Amino acid sequence: MILVMTTVERPAIEKKLNELNVQLAPEISYRLETLFPKYKGRYAAGTIRNRVKLLHRLDSLLPEILLDGEVVQFLCKGKMTSSRNTYLVRMFCDDNMRLHVVLVLTNLRLLCIETNRQGAPNRTCWSVYYNQIDKVETGITDEVVLLLKDGLRVSYYEFSQNENLMLKQVTREMGATFAARGFNPPSMQSRQQLCGKCFHSVLEGDYECPNCRTLFWTPLEIATRSFLFPPWGTFLLGHYGVAMWEAVLFFAILFFDFNSIRQGNFSNALLLLILGNILAAFFTSRITSKGLYLKDAVN
Ligand SMILES: [Zn+2]
Repeated sequence: MILVMTTVERPAIEKKLNELNVQLAPEISYRLETLFPKYKGRYAAGTIRNRVKLLHRLDSLLPEILLDGEVVQFLCKGKMTSSRNTYLVRMFCDDNMRLHVVLVLTNLRLLCIETNRQGAPNRTCWSVYYNQIDKVETGITDEVVLLLKDGLRVSYYEFSQNENLMLKQVTREMGATFAARGFNPPSMQSRQQLCGKCFHSVLEGDYECPNCRTLFWTPLEIATRSFLFPPWGTFLLGHYGVAMWEAVLFFAILFFDFNSIRQGNFSNALLLLILGNILAAFFTSRITSKGLYLKDAVN
Protein backbone atom coordinates (compact mmCIF):
# COMPACT_ATOMS: atom_id res chain seq x y z
CA MET A 1 0.00 0.00 0.00
CA ILE A 2 1.27 3.46 -0.83
CA LEU A 3 2.51 5.59 2.05
CA VAL A 4 0.63 8.73 2.93
CA MET A 5 2.78 11.59 1.70
CA THR A 6 2.86 13.50 4.99
CA THR A 7 4.48 10.59 6.86
CA VAL A 8 7.57 10.31 4.72
CA GLU A 9 10.56 12.49 5.26
CA ARG A 10 12.79 14.09 2.66
CA PRO A 11 16.15 13.33 4.39
CA ALA A 12 15.32 9.62 4.52
CA ILE A 13 14.52 9.61 0.79
CA GLU A 14 17.70 11.54 -0.03
CA LYS A 15 19.65 8.94 1.96
CA LYS A 16 17.96 6.16 -0.03
CA LEU A 17 18.81 7.88 -3.35
CA ASN A 18 22.44 8.15 -2.24
CA GLU A 19 22.48 4.48 -1.25
CA LEU A 20 21.18 3.56 -4.70
CA ASN A 21 23.69 5.94 -6.27
CA VAL A 22 21.06 7.67 -8.41
CA GLN A 23 21.22 11.37 -9.23
CA LEU A 24 18.47 13.74 -10.29
CA ALA A 25 18.99 16.66 -12.67
CA PRO A 26 20.16 19.50 -10.36
CA GLU A 27 18.47 22.29 -12.35
CA ILE A 28 14.99 20.88 -11.60
CA SER A 29 13.21 21.13 -8.22
CA TYR A 30 11.52 17.99 -6.88
CA ARG A 31 9.13 17.15 -4.09
CA LEU A 32 10.77 13.88 -3.11
CA GLU A 33 8.01 12.91 -0.66
CA THR A 34 5.50 12.48 -3.48
CA LEU A 35 7.98 11.57 -6.22
CA PHE A 36 9.23 8.55 -4.26
CA PRO A 37 6.46 7.78 -1.74
CA LYS A 38 7.55 4.15 -1.49
CA TYR A 39 11.21 4.21 -0.54
CA LYS A 40 11.30 1.23 1.81
CA GLY A 41 10.45 -2.41 1.29
CA ARG A 42 11.00 -5.17 -1.17
CA TYR A 43 10.48 -3.53 -4.54
CA ALA A 44 11.29 0.06 -3.57
CA ALA A 45 14.76 0.13 -5.17
CA GLY A 46 13.43 -1.02 -8.55
CA THR A 47 10.56 1.48 -8.47
CA ILE A 48 12.92 4.35 -7.60
CA ARG A 49 15.42 3.37 -10.32
CA ASN A 50 12.67 3.14 -12.96
CA ARG A 51 11.24 6.52 -12.02
CA VAL A 52 14.68 8.15 -12.09
CA LYS A 53 15.34 6.52 -15.48
CA LEU A 54 12.08 7.99 -16.77
CA LEU A 55 13.04 11.40 -15.37
CA HIS A 56 16.39 11.23 -17.16
CA ARG A 57 14.60 10.57 -20.45
CA LEU A 58 12.99 14.01 -19.96
CA ASP A 59 16.26 15.74 -18.98
CA SER A 60 16.51 17.59 -22.29
CA LEU A 61 12.89 18.70 -22.30
CA LEU A 62 11.74 19.41 -18.72
CA PRO A 63 14.11 22.33 -18.00
CA GLU A 64 12.71 24.01 -21.14
CA ILE A 65 9.06 23.46 -20.18
CA LEU A 66 9.13 24.15 -16.44
CA LEU A 67 8.60 27.70 -15.22
CA ASP A 68 10.45 29.45 -12.39
CA GLY A 69 9.33 27.98 -9.07
CA GLU A 70 7.70 24.95 -10.66
CA VAL A 71 8.38 21.78 -8.68
CA VAL A 72 8.04 18.21 -10.01
CA GLN A 73 5.81 16.29 -7.61
CA PHE A 74 5.25 13.02 -9.43
CA LEU A 75 5.62 11.37 -12.81
CA CYS A 76 4.54 8.15 -14.45
CA LYS A 77 4.31 6.63 -17.93
CA GLY A 78 1.20 5.16 -19.49
CA LYS A 79 -1.26 5.86 -22.28
CA MET A 80 -3.81 8.61 -22.85
CA THR A 81 -7.07 9.10 -24.71
CA SER A 82 -9.22 12.21 -24.83
CA SER A 83 -12.71 12.89 -26.06
CA ARG A 84 -15.64 15.28 -25.94
CA ASN A 85 -17.87 12.71 -27.60
CA THR A 86 -20.76 10.56 -26.46
CA TYR A 87 -20.18 7.15 -24.90
CA LEU A 88 -20.57 5.21 -28.15
CA VAL A 89 -18.23 7.35 -30.27
CA ARG A 90 -15.74 7.30 -27.44
CA MET A 91 -15.88 3.50 -27.12
CA PHE A 92 -15.56 2.77 -30.83
CA CYS A 93 -13.19 5.52 -31.88
CA ASP A 94 -11.46 7.81 -29.39
CA ASP A 95 -10.74 5.21 -26.71
CA ASN A 96 -8.91 3.09 -29.27
CA MET A 97 -6.47 5.85 -30.10
CA ARG A 98 -4.18 5.54 -27.09
CA LEU A 99 -1.01 7.58 -27.17
CA HIS A 100 2.07 6.75 -25.12
CA VAL A 101 2.56 9.61 -22.65
CA VAL A 102 4.49 10.62 -19.57
CA LEU A 103 2.55 12.58 -16.98
CA VAL A 104 4.48 15.11 -14.93
CA LEU A 105 2.57 16.55 -11.99
CA THR A 106 4.03 19.83 -10.76
CA ASN A 107 2.84 22.28 -8.12
CA LEU A 108 1.20 24.33 -10.92
CA ARG A 109 -0.14 21.94 -13.55
CA LEU A 110 -0.40 18.46 -14.89
CA LEU A 111 1.92 18.19 -17.89
CA CYS A 112 1.40 15.45 -20.40
CA ILE A 113 4.20 14.70 -22.88
CA GLU A 114 3.81 12.26 -25.75
CA THR A 115 6.57 9.65 -25.88
CA ASN A 116 7.49 6.54 -27.79
CA ARG A 117 6.89 3.09 -26.28
CA GLN A 118 10.12 3.31 -24.22
CA GLY A 119 9.30 6.74 -22.76
CA ALA A 120 11.54 8.93 -24.97
CA PRO A 121 9.60 12.18 -25.44
CA ASN A 122 8.66 13.90 -28.64
CA ARG A 123 7.57 17.54 -28.59
CA THR A 124 3.79 17.11 -28.41
CA CYS A 125 2.68 18.37 -25.00
CA TRP A 126 -0.46 19.41 -23.15
CA SER A 127 -0.98 21.07 -19.77
CA VAL A 128 -3.91 21.28 -17.37
CA TYR A 129 -4.01 23.69 -14.43
CA TYR A 130 -5.47 21.96 -11.39
CA ASN A 131 -8.32 24.49 -11.15
CA GLN A 132 -9.55 23.17 -14.55
CA ILE A 133 -10.17 19.67 -13.20
CA ASP A 134 -13.79 19.16 -12.18
CA LYS A 135 -13.57 15.52 -11.10
CA VAL A 136 -11.00 12.74 -10.80
CA GLU A 137 -12.63 9.34 -11.30
CA THR A 138 -11.74 5.70 -11.77
CA GLY A 139 -12.93 4.26 -15.09
CA ILE A 140 -14.35 0.80 -15.77
CA THR A 141 -10.92 -0.70 -16.52
CA ASP A 142 -9.26 1.04 -13.53
CA GLU A 143 -8.00 3.91 -15.66
CA VAL A 144 -7.80 7.39 -14.13
CA VAL A 145 -10.35 9.73 -15.71
CA LEU A 146 -10.17 13.52 -15.46
CA LEU A 147 -13.37 15.40 -16.22
CA LEU A 148 -12.36 18.92 -17.15
CA LYS A 149 -14.39 22.09 -16.72
CA ASP A 150 -14.96 22.61 -20.47
CA GLY A 151 -16.34 19.08 -20.93
CA LEU A 152 -13.18 17.32 -22.14
CA ARG A 153 -12.73 13.82 -20.75
CA VAL A 154 -9.11 12.64 -20.49
CA SER A 155 -8.34 9.03 -19.55
CA TYR A 156 -4.97 7.62 -18.47
CA TYR A 157 -4.32 3.89 -18.84
CA GLU A 158 -1.69 1.31 -17.97
CA PHE A 159 -0.32 2.83 -14.79
CA SER A 160 0.38 0.60 -11.79
CA GLN A 161 -2.05 0.61 -8.89
CA ASN A 162 0.33 2.72 -6.80
CA GLU A 163 0.83 5.18 -9.65
CA ASN A 164 -2.94 5.49 -10.08
CA LEU A 165 -3.30 6.21 -6.36
CA MET A 166 -0.54 8.79 -6.38
CA LEU A 167 -1.84 10.44 -9.53
CA LYS A 168 -5.29 10.84 -7.96
CA GLN A 169 -3.85 11.87 -4.60
CA VAL A 170 -1.59 14.64 -5.95
CA THR A 171 -4.26 15.90 -8.37
CA ARG A 172 -6.89 16.13 -5.64
CA GLU A 173 -4.46 17.66 -3.15
CA MET A 174 -3.36 20.34 -5.60
CA GLY A 175 -6.97 21.03 -6.64
CA ALA A 176 -7.87 21.58 -2.98
CA THR A 177 -4.82 23.83 -2.48
CA PHE A 178 -5.77 25.94 -5.50
CA ALA A 179 -9.36 26.23 -4.23
CA ALA A 180 -8.31 27.09 -0.66
CA ARG A 181 -6.01 29.85 -1.92
CA GLY A 182 -8.47 31.09 -4.54
CA PHE A 183 -5.76 30.54 -7.16
CA ASN A 184 -7.33 30.42 -10.62
CA PRO A 185 -4.74 30.86 -13.37
CA PRO A 186 -6.53 31.96 -16.54
CA SER A 187 -6.86 29.36 -19.24
CA MET A 188 -8.56 29.68 -22.66
CA GLN A 189 -9.23 25.92 -22.70
CA SER A 190 -9.19 23.44 -19.83
CA ARG A 191 -6.43 21.43 -21.48
CA GLN A 192 -3.93 23.63 -23.24
CA GLN A 193 -1.86 22.46 -26.16
CA LEU A 194 1.76 23.59 -25.86
CA CYS A 195 3.99 24.58 -28.76
CA GLY A 196 6.80 22.03 -29.07
CA LYS A 197 9.38 24.75 -29.62
CA CYS A 198 8.68 27.57 -27.14
CA PHE A 199 6.00 25.80 -24.97
CA HIS A 200 3.60 28.72 -25.26
CA SER A 201 -0.08 27.64 -25.28
CA VAL A 202 -1.78 27.33 -28.67
CA LEU A 203 -5.56 27.35 -29.07
CA GLU A 204 -7.26 24.15 -30.17
CA GLY A 205 -7.84 24.38 -33.93
CA ASP A 206 -4.82 26.65 -34.50
CA TYR A 207 -1.79 25.17 -36.21
CA GLU A 208 0.66 28.05 -35.87
CA CYS A 209 2.22 29.12 -32.57
CA PRO A 210 1.14 32.71 -31.76
CA ASN A 211 4.45 33.26 -29.96
CA CYS A 212 7.22 31.80 -32.16
CA ARG A 213 5.24 31.20 -35.41
CA THR A 214 6.22 27.53 -35.53
CA LEU A 215 3.93 25.54 -37.84
CA PHE A 216 2.17 22.27 -37.01
CA TRP A 217 0.55 19.64 -39.22
CA THR A 218 -3.18 20.16 -39.74
CA PRO A 219 -5.59 17.18 -39.72
CA LEU A 220 -6.35 17.77 -43.43
CA GLU A 221 -2.67 17.74 -44.43
CA ILE A 222 -2.11 14.50 -42.55
CA ALA A 223 -5.37 12.92 -43.81
CA THR A 224 -4.45 13.68 -47.44
CA ARG A 225 -1.06 12.03 -47.07
CA SER A 226 -2.52 9.02 -45.23
CA PHE A 227 -5.13 8.58 -47.94
CA LEU A 228 -2.47 8.56 -50.68
CA PHE A 229 -0.13 6.23 -48.75
CA PRO A 230 -1.34 5.18 -45.24
CA PRO A 231 2.02 5.02 -43.39
CA TRP A 232 3.00 8.49 -44.64
CA GLY A 233 0.73 10.49 -42.28
CA THR A 234 1.55 8.29 -39.28
CA PHE A 235 5.28 8.61 -40.02
CA LEU A 236 5.00 12.43 -40.07
CA LEU A 237 3.37 12.30 -36.61
CA GLY A 238 6.45 10.45 -35.35
CA HIS A 239 4.59 7.20 -34.64
CA TYR A 240 7.16 5.08 -36.43
CA GLY A 241 6.20 1.66 -35.00
CA VAL A 242 2.55 2.10 -36.06
CA ALA A 243 3.67 3.40 -39.47
CA MET A 244 5.67 0.24 -40.01
CA TRP A 245 2.63 -1.95 -39.30
CA GLU A 246 0.51 0.23 -41.58
CA ALA A 247 3.04 -0.29 -44.36
CA VAL A 248 2.90 -4.09 -43.85
CA LEU A 249 -0.91 -4.03 -43.93
CA PHE A 250 -0.98 -1.74 -46.97
CA PHE A 251 1.29 -4.01 -48.99
CA ALA A 252 -0.70 -7.09 -47.86
CA ILE A 253 -3.85 -5.40 -49.21
CA LEU A 254 -2.01 -4.57 -52.47
CA PHE A 255 -0.97 -8.21 -52.80
CA PHE A 256 -4.57 -9.35 -52.18
CA ASP A 257 -5.78 -6.76 -54.71
CA PHE A 258 -3.28 -7.95 -57.29
CA ASN A 259 -4.69 -11.48 -57.01
CA SER A 260 -8.29 -10.18 -57.16
CA ILE A 261 -7.52 -8.23 -60.34
CA ARG A 262 -5.93 -11.30 -61.91
CA GLN A 263 -9.21 -13.12 -61.22
CA GLY A 264 -11.18 -10.26 -62.77
CA ASN A 265 -12.53 -8.74 -59.52
CA PHE A 266 -11.33 -5.24 -60.25
CA SER A 267 -14.17 -3.45 -58.38
CA ASN A 268 -13.61 -5.50 -55.18
CA ALA A 269 -9.90 -4.72 -55.27
CA LEU A 270 -10.50 -1.01 -55.75
CA LEU A 271 -13.14 -0.93 -53.00
CA LEU A 272 -10.83 -2.62 -50.47
CA LEU A 273 -7.94 -0.29 -51.30
CA ILE A 274 -10.05 2.86 -51.03
CA LEU A 275 -11.75 1.71 -47.82
CA GLY A 276 -8.41 0.92 -46.14
CA ASN A 277 -6.94 4.28 -47.12
CA ILE A 278 -10.06 6.18 -45.96
CA LEU A 279 -9.85 4.49 -42.55
CA ALA A 280 -6.14 5.35 -42.26
CA ALA A 281 -6.87 8.97 -43.22
CA PHE A 282 -9.74 9.17 -40.70
CA PHE A 283 -7.78 7.86 -37.72
CA THR A 284 -4.59 9.83 -38.38
CA SER A 285 -6.56 13.05 -38.85
CA ARG A 286 -8.38 12.39 -35.52
CA ILE A 287 -5.03 11.99 -33.77
CA THR A 288 -3.69 15.17 -35.41
CA SER A 289 -6.73 17.12 -34.20
CA LYS A 290 -5.93 16.23 -30.56
CA GLY A 291 -2.37 17.56 -30.37
CA LEU A 292 0.30 19.68 -32.04
CA TYR A 293 2.80 17.88 -34.25
CA LEU A 294 5.78 19.95 -35.43
CA LYS A 295 6.30 20.23 -39.17
CA ASP A 296 10.02 20.80 -38.78
CA ALA A 297 12.34 19.26 -36.19
CA VAL A 298 13.58 21.54 -33.41
CA ASN A 299 17.36 21.70 -33.16
ZN1 LIG B 1 6.00 28.50 -30.11
